[in-house]
Order: sequence, then structure tokens, then C-alpha cells
Amino acid sequence: MTKNHDLDLFVLGAGSGGVRAARVSAGMGARVAVCEDDRLGGTCVNRGCIPKKLYVYASHFHDEFEDAVAYGWSPVSPTFDWPTLVANKEKELGRLNGIYAGLLDGAGVETIRGRGTLVDAHTVRVGDETYTAKHILVATGGYPIVPDVEGREHAITSDQAFDLETLPERIVVVGGGYIAVEFAAIFNGLGVETSLLYRGEIPLRGFDMDVRTTVTEESRKKGIDVRLETNVTRIERAGDGFRATTTRGDVIEAGQVMYATGRAPNSRGMGLEEVGVELNRKGAVVVDDYSRSSVASIHAIGDVTDRLNLTPVAIHEAMCLAQTLFNDNPTKPDHREVATAVFCQPEVGTVGFTEEEARAEHGAVDIFRTRFRALRHTLTGRDEGTMMKLIVDRASDRVVGCHMAGAHAGEIIQGIAIAIKCRATKAQFDATIGIHPTSAEEFVTMREPVAEATREAAE
Ligand code: NDP
Repeated sequence: MTKNHDLDLFVLGAGSGGVRAARVSAGMGARVAVCEDDRLGGTCVNRGCIPKKLYVYASHFHDEFEDAVAYGWSPVSPTFDWPTLVANKEKELGRLNGIYAGLLDGAGVETIRGRGTLVDAHTVRVGDETYTAKHILVATGGYPIVPDVEGREHAITSDQAFDLETLPERIVVVGGGYIAVEFAAIFNGLGVETSLLYRGEIPLRGFDMDVRTTVTEESRKKGIDVRLETNVTRIERAGDGFRATTTRGDVIEAGQVMYATGRAPNSRGMGLEEVGVELNRKGAVVVDDYSRSSVASIHAIGDVTDRLNLTPVAIHEAMCLAQTLFNDNPTKPDHREVATAVFCQPEVGTVGFTEEEARAEHGAVDIFRTRFRALRHTLTGRDEGTMMKLIVDRASDRVVGCHMAGAHAGEIIQGIAIAIKCRATKAQFDATIGIHPTSAEEFVTMREPVAEATREAAE
């Protein structure tokens, strides 16, 4: 390419992936611009992980106030004020948007306000301006989708849920993935009568079955009305709220009906297909192992590629791309053994294979599992179960899967994920001395495989 471009890299979308790619590439000496038509930080900062986790914290206080009494605190009668939470969340997001702007400025990245459209393989138009770049990066994320159900216009999604004017007394949450399960727990914890409707047999498809059953059971114990093999057929207005009719013929009246039925890649209407970028059936940009699209100068990372739709994965893909494009060091993102958490109550943390996947991959596996009530609840009497599980490849003794449903599971599994990445064996887990008294110590003290595996071994 002999043509002189204005820039080395033009990034569409200032979310987690786009901002990281822009900053790191600029740090490697590239001339970079990023365009964004919304607030900086993308879904994670503005409508996802961050506000979600803040609301999760808010929802936990419900049980904490109750539990405090058993530890000698006088009963308190707390009240919850939704507008205060929304306003404090907004203030924090404002602060984070400022930090993102500062980081981009500090790295020498030009931030362009507006929506970018591709003109050709090296040219992007934003408003009346046209920019040319040696490389273009599509990091435009995704958006929630609502299926074609009668009355879908009445439904909200996670995009609106954070900023509802008032907290409803009752809510119907439809879906059984991360977002549905997390929001059901948030609303329930905030005192909203919550129904979770999932079309399948048991929520969190793709997770280990012991995690799925524990989450379902514990969610019910917390008071969530979990209805399985149930979907919504119609939503209509009813007074100040809505009426949802289910496939079982039940009618639920609620202040809000929230859909968390998946997300779609944000790839349409920006000229991608017109310049020859291949999209798959779901609209995701098809990329090779190095995040390059079917057009050599156009790359894509994060949710718009629909690989593993998690913020830290988008950031990792961004770092790899910067290495590939601007540091003469072609680097493939590694999508194996990515740890993840679902911030329901109790929390889920998981890394590696599910039992089912491990059996398919390795054949003979040993399963170590424990279920218990955490020490904290010996005084409170709260009937909250914790489940922890290790899956070990019998041939190599490697721990190939680790799953937990219990308090602080995300924090605990993050540490375990390092061991899994280092290909730790069960013997090495056993040689590790626990921290007592913690729940996490169970991961290094489980000695006997569960009976099913022992039986199978004897066969
Ligand atoms: P998911 O794809 O994880 O789950 C969608 C859910 O909706 C599934 O239970 C699915 O059922 C159900 N569903 C799909 N279509 C319909 C329909 N027509 N009617 C009824 N139910 C339907 O999507 P989410 O929206 O929960 O999350 C999107 C992604 O965002 C996640 O996959 C994850 O990568 C990311 N995320 C990560 C978080 C974290 O790390 N903590 C938090 C939130 C999101 P079925 O199982 O039958 O297909």
C-alpha cells in the first residue's frame, strides 16, 4: 500500500475493546482515532458490568441487614430508595466516562464524537468528515434483542432497567442466561416480587449442571418465583403496569416485563457488508485467528465478533491485535479456560470444562464435590447452600474444570483460574494448604471423588 493515510488505525466504538486497542496502539507509536456516538466506555461501563455490579451490591444489603441481628446488632428497619441508587450510579458513570476521555487524550488518541460509516476498505465517514486509515477496527459491541412476541414494545431490556423512574412492586424477567439470572437476583434483593420465566428445563445453559441446579434451588429459596419451561406469549397494558400471559396459560400482572433473551452483534448500518466484510447469520463479523475480517485492512474484536462475549476477553483481543498490527508480533487471542462469574445470589464462578464437556473431551474423569452451609450462616440460620466442584482428568490428574455457586465465587475462582491456566494437577491442589476458616479452602481439601465417579471407575 503506497497511499499515505491520515491514520494508522481508526477504531469504531469506544467500549472496553475499542478503547484498549486505541490506547495500546497509540502507545506503540500508531496514529489513532476512535469514534463513538454514545458515552465512552461502551456496554460494560454504561449499561453492563459496572452498573450491574453496583446494583448487585445494593441488593445484597437486604440479607445483610437481616443477618446482622444474629451477630448482636439491634434490629434495624432499613428502607430502600431507588432514586438514590440510580443517581449515585450516574455520578460514578460520569466519573468513569471522564477517566476514559482522559486515558484516550493522554495516549494521544483523537476522540471523534459521532457514528462512523465505512466508505471503503480504508475510509470512514463521521458526519461531514472523512478519515483514511491503514487499518480499521470494528469494536461496536452488541445490543439486547427482544423476540417477536405480541406486545414486545411494552418490554424493557437491561438497557432500560438501570434507569427506571420507579422501582416496580413486581417484575417478570424473561430468559435464563447471565443477564436474566443476575437481574432477577438484583430486583429480588431490592424487594421487588420477582418472577423468572425460562423456556428451557433449567437456567444457565452451558454451565455445569451442579451450578445450574444450585442456582435454581437457591434462587427459589431467596424468594424468586422461578418458572421453568415457561415462556411469554403476550404482553399487554394493565393499569399502570403490564399483564404477561405465559405458555402455560397463566397471567402475571407486573409493573415491568424485562427481556434478557440474548444480545446481537452491532454490525448493521455502518457499511460493513457494502465494503465486503463478511457477517455470519447472526450478524457477527467473521474474523480469523488474528481478529482480521474478510477485508484485509478491517479487523474486529469484542461482542461484534460473537466469540466469547465478555469484557476481559474483548480487552485481551485488543491487546493481541495491537501486538499483531503495531509491534511486529502476530498474536492470537487465547479463548481457552476463560474464567467467568454470574453475579446472582449466591454467586457463580467457573473456569474450564463442565462435567459433561470434560467427559466428552477426556473420557474418564473424577468428580470432587462438596455442598455445605457457610460458617457465617451457622449463627444466622440462613438456609443458603454453597456448592463447589472440581473435575479431574483421571489420566493426567489435571484439574480441567472448577465450579462454584456460593458467596464470593467470582473472587475465589479468579485465583483458581491461574492454577487451571498453569495446568495444575489434583495432587498440586492437595499439596496446597488451605486458609482456615474460609469456603475457598474446600478447593484444596476435597479428597474423595463423589460416588458416581467411583462406581463408574469400578465398572
Ligand atoms: P444469553 O445468550 O446468555 O442467554 C439468553 C437466554 O434467553 C437463554 O436462557 C435463552 O434460552 C433465552 N432465550 C433466547 N431466545 C428466547 C426466546 N425467544 N424466548 C425466551 N427465551 C429466550 O444472553 P444474555 O442476554 O443473558 O447475555 C448475553 C451475553 O452477555 C452472555 O452470553 C455473556 O457473554 C454476556 N454477559 C456476561 C456477564 C458476566 O460476565 N457476568 C453478565 C451479563 C452478560 P436458551 O437457553 O433456551 O437458549
